[in-house]
Amino acid sequence: MRLVVLGGGESGVGTAILGKQKGYDVFVSDFGKIKDSYKEVLIKNGIDWEDEKHTESLILNADVVMKSPGIPEKAAIVKKLVEKGIPVISEIEFAAPFTKALTIGITGSNGKTTTTMLTYHLLKSAGLNVGLAGNIGKSFAEQVAEDKYDSYVLELSSFQLDGIINYKPHIAIITNISPDHLDRYDYKYENYIDSKFRITMNQTEEDYLIYDADDEAISEWLKYNKTKAKLIPFSLTKTFEEGAFIKDNTMEAIINQEEFKMETESIALEGKHNFKNAMAATSVAKLMQIRKATIRESLSNFQGVEHRLEKVLKIQNVQYINDSKATNVNATFFALDSMTTPTVWIVGGVDKGNDYNELMALVREKVKAIICLGVDNRKIIDAFGNVVDIMLEVNNMNDAVKMAQRITEKGDTVLLSPACASFDLFENYEDRGRQFKEAVHNL
Ligand code: ADP
Repeated sequence: MRLVVLGGGESGVGTAILGKQKGYDVFVSDFGKIKDSYKEVLIKNGIDWEDEKHTESLILNADVVMKSPGIPEKAAIVKKLVEKGIPVISEIEFAAPFTKALTIGITGSNGKTTTTMLTYHLLKSAGLNVGLAGNIGKSFAEQVAEDKYDSYVLELSSFQLDGIINYKPHIAIITNISPDHLDRYDYKYENYIDSKFRITMNQTEEDYLIYDADDEAISEWLKYNKTKAKLIPFSLTKTFEEGAFIKDNTMEAIINQEEFKMETESIALEGKHNFKNAMAATSVAKLMQIRKATIRESLSNFQGVEHRLEKVLKIQNVQYINDSKATNVNATFFALDSMTTPTVWIVGGVDKGNDYNELMALVREKVKAIICLGVDNRKIIDAFGNVVDIMLEVNNMNDAVKMAQRITEKGDTVLLSPACASFDLFENYEDRGRQFKEAVHNL
């Protein structure tokens, strides 16, 4: 069997290693440059590869092709493979049949990483032999090759889900759905929604789907489509006989007729969106029969993930918060929503079709000044120019942070929550977040 792997990154190299181990004739092809560290791994494992080209004669003879999530379906080579009827699948699809481990698959537009890390933290604290993979850290395929774990918590993007055929998680979570990556979905929101729901398409009556019952797109889909999985909803506003919810400042999760309760105050993560993430993770923990004391302790000591509403420093009683991962309006909505003091908001970058009106009420209520940090800030200025008193434009992080400090008074917050991608001025969102933290530390 010939396995061709398109893309020599983390998931590609992991798949190649697993394929080789299982006896496939493996070939890795990357149209860009493969990192030296990955080349070394391929060479060490005796796997054939090429980069900066796709040699069709070596690719179109595949029995199965694993496509890395970054490669669009519209890429010429992918189209040719599909025309020839060769299955093009994702890493998860390829690797899952080679493990007996139970998987928990987590998808959604926002909150995937936070919910994945928190779920992992809960299960690991309970002493389970659990791995962490998907879009995070070491590839799932490579970990399957090493065969170390009894279960995995997987962060799954819609691109990973587009490439599944038979894969099913025992427990699936859809954190929420809002428009994102529409360029990969023919600019049709419904295609993107359908892609997220692929997470449940192979689930059976023994499986579970945990989802945000406050989310319009999710509720609509569930109204008109079917899943066999048992539904476990969570909500900030509704209550359920089975599911998780917030009532009187207490989080409750009722699963299999067992109740777990915890005051929201004791949950280390802050903000309503994080209560949602906590409800989702707690539901998994309950399904996995983790002890209440362990859940309680884990929720009260989980400090969150870098670049997601990350508290950086308090200087002269001004709190600086790094939410660089907020690359869309929905994420920024929850960041602003969780602000409790007057806020200087650093926003901007590459806009993926933002509708800033969704933030209008929050900006009026909470934001005293806006610092635009992007190459093209027109849309932000048009949206909020008449709403806040101070509106400034800068083109680097140092200036943004210095300006912010100048405008703030004791008790204020400075929030970097860009609602945009970072590619105009930064390498990526991590670079943007790191530069922010450095600038704050240098104040
Ligand atoms: P993802 O992996 O889906 O991008 P992250 O956990 O990295 O999600 O969070 C991305 C951004 O979204 C951060 O700015 C974070 O504060 C915000 N966020 C986290 N959870 C949620 C949620 N449940 N709903 C909306 N926004 C969220």
